[in-house]
Amino acid sequence: MLFEESLLYEQSVQGRSGVDIEEVQLTQIQTGQPIREHIGLPEVSEPQVVRHFTRLSGQNYSIDTNFFPLGSCTMKHNPRINEKVARLSGFANIHPLQNDETVQGSLALMFELEKWLSTLTGMHKTTLNPSAGAHGELTGAMIIKKAHEAKGNPRKIILVPDSAHGTNPATAAMCGYTCKTIPSNKKGLVDLEAFNSAIETYGNDIAAFMLTNPNTCGLFEPNVKIISNKLHEIGAYFYCDGANFNAICGKVKPADIGVDVMQFNLHKTFSTPHGGGGPGSGPVSVCEELAAYLPVPYVTKLKDGPFKLITENKTSIGRIRTFQGQFGMFVRALTYMKSHGINGLTSASENAVLNANYILSHLQENYNAPFNKEKGVYCMHECLFSEKWQKEHGIGTNEIAKALLDNGIHPMTVYFPLVVNGAMLIEPTESEPKEVLDYFIQTMKNIAKEVQSENSKEKFSNSPSKTFRQKLDEVQAAKNPKVTYEML
Ligand SMILES: *Cc1c(COP(=O)(O)O)cnc(C)c1O
Repeated sequence: MLFEESLLYEQSVQGRSGVDIEEVQLTQIQTGQPIREHIGLPEVSEPQVVRHFTRLSGQNYSIDTNFFPLGSCTMKHNPRINEKVARLSGFANIHPLQNDETVQGSLALMFELEKWLSTLTGMHKTTLNPSAGAHGELTGAMIIKKAHEAKGNPRKIILVPDSAHGTNPATAAMCGYTCKTIPSNKKGLVDLEAFNSAIETYGNDIAAFMLTNPNTCGLFEPNVKIISNKLHEIGAYFYCDGANFNAICGKVKPADIGVDVMQFNLHKTFSTPHGGGGPGSGPVSVCEELAAYLPVPYVTKLKDGPFKLITENKTSIGRIRTFQGQFGMFVRALTYMKSHGINGLTSASENAVLNANYILSHLQENYNAPFNKEKGVYCMHECLFSEKWQKEHGIGTNEIAKALLDNGIHPMTVYFPLVVNGAMLIEPTESEPKEVLDYFIQTMKNIAKEVQSENSKEKFSNSPSKTFRQKLDEVQAAKNPKVTYEML
């Protein structure tokens, strides 16, 4: 049973404390008030704090409690061995400003993680610095920009397909580029004619093409080599958004299909925590030609053995954040890689693809799968449905998503990618057993049956009704959000 939870500020009682803080020497601090009162922290006991956060955690939906098929997000299980290793004192209790000699083990770990990532992409070198996927994209775009400038040939345009994640055009724009959109064809893939004509029109003004592969329709781009060859012919770079790498890890080396730059999302492919449980981490691999521009700092191994953090490099784009990156995530990601081995990583990708196709094959009997109708067109690690079927029955994708909540399932990604109206993008990941997939499929089929029943419209307009918070006024939430707490 879940109850409303008051804020710690509302539970605060003057003078109550969970820790004994030494009397503050007012002569040393010029505020004139004890520091706790001055910054207005809630005054609560330790048991109050423990209960507060334990109760709040019960209101949270997470991969640790239920199925979370959020497309393009790879919400896979976070193995507990990762957490155990990350908590080892030598990793958990160090400071980024320590001298290299005192953190050799941690530098060795970063060096090894970089090697694993470079091996998986088949590329020359990898930076671990970026703090998330989008930050990795920005780092990659800055590297591309610097490389063109170094050749004395600054360029203005980045090509982006219309199925791209919103961060791709945002990244290009932040880096000062103009975006040109390449439409998708009827099969959900890059429209080659449109791509070729953009190459002809903009030619040497094109800095790069940013492509997510497999793309956000869950499809592997079959013309990827034609695309990369064309780009290289005009001296442009091929940027691959690697957020969907979980579909091909160990199966495809991006370098082999002509990719010059790719970001990883460690919090997707390599099982480090997501969202509120993050932080994220977005390492970037680059080809040999671009390696000189990678950001600092990075770890190198000196001839006589020790590891050293290199903090300056004349050709580098410089620093993109404080310190070395999300070190705790490096520990978790490398633990995941080493505990699986290359064969384990490969079979994780195979099972992720198998699970998505299992769902696709069952649900395309009920819902409209726009790109898989022809026999033999499989999906990669996620499957995509449109709004067509439910619209014909007077219901939208949003209602399906809310009905899932009433069945204890987190909705899939909805209304993305934009190339499909009312999209439902489902990514089960490899961590789910068949029973969970079957429960999800059965629930979606039950919902489809209800959609066809008489008074379905009314029923769907009231869901979710079984969740802690029921149907929200989403228009108000979007237009009039109250994001600060007003103390009474
Ligand atoms: C998740 C995602 C991103 C952004 O990654 P963040 O780590 O959330 O910044 C970019 N592109 C695609 C295709 C994604 O799925």
